[in-house]
Amino acid sequence: MSSKLFTRGGFAHPATSMQFKTGTWRVQQPVHRHTRAPCHVACPAGEDPQAYIAKMDEGHMQQAWEQLVMANPLPAITGRVCHHPCETGCNRGHYDEAVAIHSIERFLGDQAIEHNWRYPVEAVKHADSQVAVVGAGPAGLSCAYHLTRLGHKVTLFTALGEAGGTLHAIPGYRLPDSVIEAEVNRVLNIGIDFRPHHRLGRDIHIDELRQDFKALFLAVGTQLSKDWSVAGVTPRDLHVGLTVLKEWMAVGSVPQAQSVAVVGGGNTAVDLARILKRAGTPEVHIITSNGLPGEDTVAPDLMRAVPREIQQAIEEGVIIHSHRGIRRLLLRGERVVGLEMVHMKKMPDQDGNLKRIAFEGTETVLHVDQVIPAIGQRINPIGLESLVNGHPALQVDQHGRIEGQTGLFAGGDACSRSGGTVTAAVGDGRRAAEAIASYIKGEALAESQEFIPLEYKQLNVNYFEPAKRNEQAVLPVEERVGEIETEATLNGGQVAAEARRCFSCGNCMACDNCWVLCPDSAVLKTEEQAADGSHYAFDYDYCKGCGLCAHECPCGFIEMINDL
Ligand SMILES: Cc1cc2nc3c(=O)[nH]c(=O)nc-3n(C[C@H](O)[C@H](O)[C@H](O)COP(=O)(O)OP(=O)(O)OC[C@H]3O[C@@H](n4cnc5c(N)ncnc54)[C@H](O)[C@@H]3O)c2cc1C
Ligand code: SF4
Ligand code: SF4
Ligand code: SF4
Repeated sequence: MSSKLFTRGGFAHPATSMQFKTGTWRVQQPVHRHTRAPCHVACPAGEDPQAYIAKMDEGHMQQAWEQLVMANPLPAITGRVCHHPCETGCNRGHYDEAVAIHSIERFLGDQAIEHNWRYPVEAVKHADSQVAVVGAGPAGLSCAYHLTRLGHKVTLFTALGEAGGTLHAIPGYRLPDSVIEAEVNRVLNIGIDFRPHHRLGRDIHIDELRQDFKALFLAVGTQLSKDWSVAGVTPRDLHVGLTVLKEWMAVGSVPQAQSVAVVGGGNTAVDLARILKRAGTPEVHIITSNGLPGEDTVAPDLMRAVPREIQQAIEEGVIIHSHRGIRRLLLRGERVVGLEMVHMKKMPDQDGNLKRIAFEGTETVLHVDQVIPAIGQRINPIGLESLVNGHPALQVDQHGRIEGQTGLFAGGDACSRSGGTVTAAVGDGRRAAEAIASYIKGEALAESQEFIPLEYKQLNVNYFEPAKRNEQAVLPVEERVGEIETEATLNGGQVAAEARRCFSCGNCMACDNCWVLCPDSAVLKTEEQAADGSHYAFDYDYCKGCGLCAHECPCGFIEMINDL
């Protein structure tokens, strides 16, 4: 170790301690241990918020964004619509309130749009290894982007005239068209050969694509509405949730009614209810067999919509009947005039498996003049017949490989392992891109690793101060009209304050504690800083193994191990 490069800590006026090397009597020694933060482990897209927040905290905004887009090319989009499980996992939540990671992500995404930042993507290296991606929603865009980053030439086919897929069904008050356009076009402009108006099963066919390309990634989403009826009865003139939403977004009209019951507990149901309210429907109900966030409900039984969207829908006057099933439709002729609901909940059976139970005697009647199901979508099998094999989705493994089909990969909503969200689709696209690159190289794929995140008890939170979370401003209810965006991006000052709230779990934050506090001056530091803590080193000639550095490290970045 060159002594010129390193500096000793604050107590570096050593006397005896520099003369007496540890020798053989130390039983433990400290080592630096990078551990994944829980926010990183929880992000379905694979983002490492700790890493980009650290760069922001140092004032390097563009570098922070570049770090972020190593995993997710669409942060302005996911910063707006992701249900942010990263924050549920965030260790700061055990101390006061979780870091507002999605707001930081959105800020960086918006900065990139405003300043026209370009992805750090190199020119194509393997021009002969062409890959076809079918479907230009978040999964297809992510896969095409990551394959391009990895040096492959990608042709991206999609059925419609524009890219973005189901992102275009998310109303503008949550996700403005301008944001979709900016991020989607940035992906398409990195050298992807984009072919709109190419529908699988009509203009392109799996067998031909397999001949023309080294590998194929299918990301066609779920384009058909699931069938809906109650005890075999389907009302005449049934409107379907996603179609109503799309019509409202295209022409601004919704079915006329005084009172509507939207059936379903996902994002489509909540968006539809909010749209109906905005379009002037006096009474809008959501009927869902799931529970509201905050209710005493097991996680698999919770509504599958973004919790703050549910909250905003309630503020806007939507009435939510949670844990309710529909027993029968009340009809006048073939028109709905009401429905009978029954209380139901998921409960463990004798084997501990959750089963939905209806509670007899809890029936109530709700009078409405429209029922609109928004119970989800299913895959359109046309063009995929040989792969679907009667299943409701494409069967894939953890790398997105379609079972029994060499060189064929899939991801996003169309797959059996789908998370049903934008962020999950982005993550599927990234993992599949990595698997495709390995497949083309002829390399075996490593088993996906389970990462154990750094726990709260491994931090030393004495070095942090309580600080209020910076929340995005939300429009007052009376100003929430049409497509005006409901939430605002944090400003620069707020986002900097939010970045400072991060505990930097499992990763050095260059606080100098170990360097200053080591009683034996055995922690060394280079004069040049490194964001990952690699500028600190232990001088094991002098370390006595006391463990003070590990104890005083705020971030859990130092571990004591048996002396080697
Ligand atoms: C109203 C609504 C609100 C939502 N809100 C949220 C939210 O707040 N947060 C969230 O995370 N998720 C939300 N979602 C879900 C999210 O949009 C999807 O999970 C995500 O878009 C799935 O991405 P994907 O790429 O798998 O499929 P898609 O986005 O559906 O994209 C599929 C692509 O494939 C193309 N395609 C389809 N068939 C063919 C074919 N035969 N040939 C060629 N191309 C084809 C389509 O044109 C499209 O480009 C919402 C969904 C809806 C409907
Ligand atoms: S994509 Fe979602 S889970 Fe991942 S960091 Fe962003 S908000 Fe969190
Ligand atoms: S405190 Fe920071 S590093 Fe730790 S989980 Fe939260 S955002 Fe991630
Ligand atoms: S004490 Fe501070 S400087 Fe030392 S390893 Fe931990 S975070 Fe880094």
